[in-house]
Amino acid sequence: MASSDNTAPKGILLKDLHKICENLDTTLSFCYKYGLLKNWTGLPCPKTGCRGIIKLYADSKNVHEKKMFKCSARAQNCYFKRSIRHGPSWFSNSNLSIATILEITYCWVYDYPTKVIQRELDIGSDTTLVDWKNYCREVCSVTLEKENEMIGGEGKIVEIDESKFGKRKYNRGRKVTGQWVLGGIERGSNRMFMKPVEKRDRATLLAIIKDHVLPGTTVYSDCWKAYDCLSDEGFIHGQVNHSIEFVSPEGVHTQRIESTWRAIKAKIGKYGTRKHLYDGYLAEYMVKKKYLSDRHDKFEVFLKLISKLYDPNNLPTTESAQQDGPSNTAGSPTAATIEEETAEADNDDEIPDDEPFDFSDELFPEEEPYFDTSADLFE
Ligand SMILES: [Zn+2]
Repeated sequence: MASSDNTAPKGILLKDLHKICENLDTTLSFCYKYGLLKNWTGLPCPKTGCRGIIKLYADSKNVHEKKMFKCSARAQNCYFKRSIRHGPSWFSNSNLSIATILEITYCWVYDYPTKVIQRELDIGSDTTLVDWKNYCREVCSVTLEKENEMIGGEGKIVEIDESKFGKRKYNRGRKVTGQWVLGGIERGSNRMFMKPVEKRDRATLLAIIKDHVLPGTTVYSDCWKAYDCLSDEGFIHGQVNHSIEFVSPEGVHTQRIESTWRAIKAKIGKYGTRKHLYDGYLAEYMVKKKYLSDRHDKFEVFLKLISKLYDPNNLPTTESAQQDGPSNTAGSPTAATIEEETAEADNDDEIPDDEPFDFSDELFPEEEPYFDTSADLFE
């Protein structure tokens, strides 16, 4: 394995990141390099008619970095200023230091356990870390949504299957019905899709398959009746009857998607999750498979994905002019010193996702509604 080979490239290690984060200059250079922050230094002042140049100045009122980008023409009454985190950026609206945010992101990329992250990064609040892990997963969800990639195609085989997540073995006072997920994996690649579904009827499943699998694809599935229509819908359909065999006489099997379900459940099952967060967990799995597996520079690759979504360098100039509150009241030092970015995190979802669910459903057949029924009995 590459990890045991000392000469193999390793990418950035946590100790390297710590060193980068030891002072603001190296931290900022790093963020500029990966497109996470906009370097205003040396740019002409965007204010109409101003000939100043933007520089980084000390600013004791800035709560985070104690520095702000400001116009050099203060003497001419130009009070243009921008916070270092001026958004859209990965660091906007957070009370954490840029260094801590980078380190949390690093630990998430490398699947560090929550307790290790909390201790090593000295993070007191559970919800803060939960929020940031959810933000990382959101990057995954949105990346996949934007790509909207179809898998399969003529000559390609896609295995499809549904699986139920979040089922509990025992009722512990709360009914948990679980979440069905439809997934498909293209053989010979890490290309896949996974969608939580409310129903497993033909219309629901077919619509998702048509959204994600190219016509002409050979689709392998089990004998769930909702799939019967696939050969009429432009797919070459192979089925394996799981009640009698794992591989059909024609060699059809869905073992790759089934092992993928097991891998995802093993990963998220340890922590459990709430129903509305499944999308994020599934997206995390898919993005880590697609972009980060077998790479020595996972962190760097993920930072580039972040910078595509939170791109502070791609602000329309008109917008930046409009957002510049102080310029509308030029000459008013009071207005000019108001920081435009208040540290108000989006705390819509403060519920920690660390509820211990029991995912040991390998012991039980997927389709049997054991737990739902027992939950009803004890409710
Ligand atoms: Zn200026």
